[in-house]
Amino acid sequence: MIKKFIRKVLRFGRKAGPKIIPKSVHGISREQLSSGSLRVCDTLQQAGYEAYVVGGAVRDLILGVRPKDFDVATSAPPETVHKLFRRSRLIGRRFKIAHVMFGGETVEVSTFRSGDAEDKDEHGRVLRDNAYGTREQDAARRDFTTNALYYDASNETIIDFHGGLADLRAKSVRIIGNPLERFREDPVRMLRAVRFASKLGFQIENSTRAPIRSLGKLIENVPPARIFDEMLKLLLSGHAHTTLHRLHTEGLHHGVLPLLDVILEQPLGTRFVNLALKDTDRRALEGKPVSPAFLFAALFWHEVLAAWRAACAKDAHPVPALHQAMDEVLEAQTEKLAIPRRYTAIMKEIWEVQPRFEQRSGRRPFALLTQERFRAGYDFLRLRAQSGEVPMELADWWERFQSVPHAEQTEMLIAPQPGERAPKRRRRRRKSSAETPAEQ
Ligand code: ATP
Ligand code: MG
Repeated sequence: MIKKFIRKVLRFGRKAGPKIIPKSVHGISREQLSSGSLRVCDTLQQAGYEAYVVGGAVRDLILGVRPKDFDVATSAPPETVHKLFRRSRLIGRRFKIAHVMFGGETVEVSTFRSGDAEDKDEHGRVLRDNAYGTREQDAARRDFTTNALYYDASNETIIDFHGGLADLRAKSVRIIGNPLERFREDPVRMLRAVRFASKLGFQIENSTRAPIRSLGKLIENVPPARIFDEMLKLLLSGHAHTTLHRLHTEGLHHGVLPLLDVILEQPLGTRFVNLALKDTDRRALEGKPVSPAFLFAALFWHEVLAAWRAACAKDAHPVPALHQAMDEVLEAQTEKLAIPRRYTAIMKEIWEVQPRFEQRSGRRPFALLTQERFRAGYDFLRLRAQSGEVPMELADWWERFQSVPHAEQTEMLIAPQPGERAPKRRRRRRKSSAETPAEQ
């Protein structure tokens, strides 16, 4: 009872009711919304429901950043949304939301939620919160004040329940409500606080930041698939490099995300990983496609390499040893971070192809060129060369080999190295220096 009362005071004590901010103050006109989200809001409002653009899109528009996508929150139940839009579908088992499609745009439409937990685990993590609620409740269940701004396209006002606009101006990431409780409810919010701070160049407000170090270990209890989703957002945000290092500063890595232990605590791999992250960030910021599988292959490469070398040192044959190393590393990770199979399959292909770049005689280089994963494999090789793991000459050779005419390619071939197997004879061979991972 008392706890509930205190929470109420904390939540709403700062102001009575929401602030309605006119366009003259926030500066966002309805034309700045995507055509899809505008259509969704107009249609729902005409049908008698409340509907607002919410979350990241409003925040980004105020900051002058182009939003990635536009989400809508409404008082209409999901089934009603589905009925109102021919090209829509309901997704989510536990909590239904509607996806409404317009050409290439998909607008995510969610019904106001109360945020009242029906079920929590022993650490306070919410297992189920299925109840619909009011606009005010929907605002209170969101994570940060800057993510809880509701744009009303009918009169171009913003409804601000938690002082989000002031925090945007102060460049502050502030959790809504009691930080301890909100992070316990959903530990992923700690990762999100760091992600937004890095992406937006904000500070994490002091009382929001204070409990993060001690609560970090709660992330262990979150289902691996959710961690993966959040990590993917983080890694593809265009700010992966700074965000990962900031997670380290906030103490959110150690033993919590094995992935981050690998990335930030392996001296051998650090240069390689930093290069991969910076390259990914550059591509993301230039609006070029980024391959999560390629990035994950890079993040784990030095783990694979270490396991591979260890197996080779025990006299294992290099090819099966590489496979064993890949499986070991992936298995260890999957427990905490469920990388979907569609990505691990590509990661393995990128890794598998690496020793084949060492073979530059006979027909093998031509065969490698026709491999589906050649391009990704080659880009990966170049990163390895840039990090000093393999000679730059090797990457340059392959760059040239891809682009010159056949006759010149033939001239480029290098005589087989001593011990390298001639392609046709199928004798059992010994470990060749060309296929064994080089020591650094
Ligand atoms: P981005 O531009 O990076 O996508 P975003 O703010 O849109 O940022 P999303 O992950 O797309 O982030 O989430 C959309 C909105 O849903 C958020 O703005 C926030 O209001 C709410 N939200 C998402 N995740 C949580 C969470 N774990 N706890 C509370 N609210 C959340
Ligand atoms: Mg979003």
